[in-house]
Amino acid sequence: MTIVARVIAISNQKGGVGKTTTAVNLACCLAQSQKKVLLIDMDPQANAGSGLGIYPQNFEHSIYQVLVEEKPMQDIIVESQIPLLHFAPARQDLAGAELELVSAFGRETRLKEALEPIRPNYDFIIIDTPPTLGLVTVNALTAADSVLIPLQSEYYAMEGLSQLVKTTSLIKKRLNPKLEREGILLTMFDRRNNLSSQVEQEIRSHFPNEVFAAVIPRNVRLSEAPSHGKPALIYDRSSAGSQAYWEFSQELLAKYFKPTATEKPKTSRSRRKSEAAADSAH
Ligand code: ATP
Ligand code: MG
Repeated sequence: MTIVARVIAISNQKGGVGKTTTAVNLACCLAQSQKKVLLIDMDPQANAGSGLGIYPQNFEHSIYQVLVEEKPMQDIIVESQIPLLHFAPARQDLAGAELELVSAFGRETRLKEALEPIRPNYDFIIIDTPPTLGLVTVNALTAADSVLIPLQSEYYAMEGLSQLVKTTSLIKKRLNPKLEREGILLTMFDRRNNLSSQVEQEIRSHFPNEVFAAVIPRNVRLSEAPSHGKPALIYDRSSAGSQAYWEFSQELLAKYFKPTATEKPKTSRSRRKSEAAADSAH
C-alpha cells in the first residue's frame, strides 16, 4: 500500500507560543514511533534546525530555493540524527521570499506543488511557520491537509485564536478547500497559576472536541533542549515536557493509525500526577 503523508502546518500568528518547540518535538516523537517524518522549516528565524542540531548556514540550498527558484524539494532535504526524521532547512534569506513571490506566477501554491512528488515517501510532513501571515505562511497553509494550533495558556490566547480561525477560513475558501483544523494544543501550561486552568476551560468550552487532551506544561527542559541541538525526548526523555509531547504525539497518531507503540499512553489523570512529580523534580 502506498502511503501519502499527512501534511500538518503548525501555525499561530502570535509569536512565541510554542510553534517551533511543538514542530521539533512532535516530529521527533512521531519518528521515534517508527513513522517516516519530514520537518520543514518555513521560518526565516530558522529555529527548527537548531532544535535538531542542524545548522542551515552549512547548506547551500534551503526552502527559499524551493519557493522562489522552484528547486525540487528532494534537493534540499537532509537527514537528522534521529532515524526516520528528515529535515528541510530555512535560512534568513527566506524573509526575502515574501517580496520576491509577490509577482510570481502560482505564488501561493509553490510549496504544495513541491511536496506532491515526495508525499509518498513520508507518513507525516510537519511544517513550522513564522508568526506572520505573509506568502510564506500562506504557502504552508495551502500545502497542508490540516493546521495544528499551539496556544499559550494565557489571557490573550483567545484573541490570537479567533484571528487564526478567520485566516484558515479564508485560505479554505480561496486556496485550499480541504484544509482542516488538526486541533488546538495548549502549551506552556502552568498548573500553579489559576489563569492557565481558566484559559483551558474557556478554550475547551468554545472548541469542544478540538482541544487535545494532552497539555504541554511550562518545563525548563523544553527550553534548554534546543541549545544542546536535541529534541526534548533525546535530551531528557523523562522530563515532564518530553513526556507531554510524547503523549500528544500518541494521541495524534491514534487518529490515523491503530496504536502499535510499545509505550502505553497514560490516562489524563495519571499524566497530570506524573507531570506534577516531574515538575517538582526538574
Ligand atoms: P515564534 O513565533 O517566534 O516562531 P514560537 O511560537 O515558535 O515562536 P517557540 O520558539 O517554540 O515559539 O517558543 C518560544 C520560547 O519559549 C522558546 O525560548 C522556547 O524554548 C520556550 N518554550 C516553548 N515551549 C515551552 C514550554 N512548554 N516550557 C518552557 N519553555 C517553552
Ligand atoms: Mg518559531
